[in-house]
Amino acid sequence: MSGARPAGQRRVVVVGGGLAGLAAACELVDRGARVTLLEARARLGGATFSFDRDGLTVDNGQHVLLRCYTEYRAFLDRIGVGDRIAIQDRFRVPVVDADGRTGELFRTGLPAPLHLGAALTRYGLLSWADRARVSVAVARLRSLDPADPRLDDRSFGSWLAQHGQRRPAIDALWNLITVAALNTDVDDASLALCVMVFRTALLVRSDAADIGVPGVPLGRLHGDPAGAYLRGAGAEVRLRSAVRRIRRSGEGFEIEVDGETISADAVVVAVPSDVAASVLPDGALADPSAPAKLGSKPIVNVHAVYDTRVTDSSFTAVVGSPVQWVFDRTDTAGVTSGQYLAVSLSAAGEWIDEPVARLREVFLPELARLFPKAEPARCQKFFVTRERRATFHQSPGSSRWRPTAHTLLPGCVLAGAWTATGWPDTMEGAVRSGNNAARIVDAQLARTVLGSAV
Ligand SMILES: Cc1cc2nc3c(=O)[nH]c(=O)nc-3n(C[C@H](O)[C@H](O)[C@H](O)COP(=O)(O)OP(=O)(O)OC[C@H]3O[C@@H](n4cnc5c(N)ncnc54)[C@H](O)[C@@H]3O)c2cc1C
Repeated sequence: MSGARPAGQRRVVVVGGGLAGLAAACELVDRGARVTLLEARARLGGATFSFDRDGLTVDNGQHVLLRCYTEYRAFLDRIGVGDRIAIQDRFRVPVVDADGRTGELFRTGLPAPLHLGAALTRYGLLSWADRARVSVAVARLRSLDPADPRLDDRSFGSWLAQHGQRRPAIDALWNLITVAALNTDVDDASLALCVMVFRTALLVRSDAADIGVPGVPLGRLHGDPAGAYLRGAGAEVRLRSAVRRIRRSGEGFEIEVDGETISADAVVVAVPSDVAASVLPDGALADPSAPAKLGSKPIVNVHAVYDTRVTDSSFTAVVGSPVQWVFDRTDTAGVTSGQYLAVSLSAAGEWIDEPVARLREVFLPELARLFPKAEPARCQKFFVTRERRATFHQSPGSSRWRPTAHTLLPGCVLAGAWTATGWPDTMEGAVRSGNNAARIVDAQLARTVLGSAV
């Protein structure tokens, strides 16, 4: 162990090149560490990536951000791509239901929570009585503390039922947000995480929920520019480098990658929850079985390219239909005529194993029902992307399986959207975890240097 080196020259290995690992690596190089990033796959970006298919650049799944994603947006600025996302001036979501009725969720310029008052008053997809009940529940929700551990043991659905929320309000409002944000239905969602989401996005700051959509494919937003940033700053980025195991070695670590062993003073482990225990050094976690207990939930995206434009909305939320959210991907994917729609299906257990032909049978008629111009249009391309382990299962009790960044071994630090970030499994949670891991490593290495100097 090279204890005499100043902290800035210590070698830190980051395992995993998703958003958490990329954020950690960028923060560490900026703090002067010698960084090696090891990523198992042939590309960076982890759960956010793009690929080419029939002349289209396709994302593995539609990603959106909110204005309250402060560390994620700062990360984009750091790697020089902050201008590749378009954020709404004001939160606005057009909603349609299966009978063709329309509604709109939007904010006014009033301070929170009054900024949503007009939208709720005018939300025609709910009866007046349900709108009134929603207002009462919102006031109660606002008073809950997401850090109260008792909330995590309870489902959001049971809390909503206790507070007078009926099926129409759950379908047309609560689940519209919960399923998209937490990748699970209200009945299966941790109350603590739901309180966090609703408070942070909708009830505390008026501009927090303004929606941002990437203006470029995900690969050009995360993996490619982050890789360039790291290489430019002198970091070593190795792709196709799956770490087999990390071992303690003196005061540092040995990282075993495909027949080679790399030494490091510290290591940030930013791999998915089901992989963490197999690569972490012995003794790192008090309960090595905890991360895998988080489980996972799938997201499916159904992609349809029409020969003509079928909707003017850049995105639409849908109620009472298997379609959940529809995004216009035309410009982002490089389509020059017609329109490319991606239907994002969260909590997609029902669809994940269905063959493409069956999904086509269900979703094309449904899109034609929701967007009448799609009826006469010709669907030129239809395909499906499936992410079986899109997020961890954000169910009641899940917080007990989310470890903090600190392991039992100083110098070995965890990152990942699934760790105890206080956020759901999101891009913001991933970046926060990476930044936090880098700060911890930096502080621990500085202490080692000071310790070895006295
Ligand atoms: C389809 C889909 C839609 C989503 N939509 C949204 C959205 O709209 N908004 C939002 O905020 N979030 C969304 N998310 C969630 C978001 O993408 C994740 O929370 C975030 O990307 C997770 O980042 P991460 O770095 O924690 O994990 P990951 O991205 O999983 O990164 C882990 C990395 O570790 C690598 N790895 C694994 N094993 C090893 C090994 N042994 N050695 C080296 N490397 C290894 C993996 O290849 C991967 O690159 C979505 C996710 C999906 C899949």
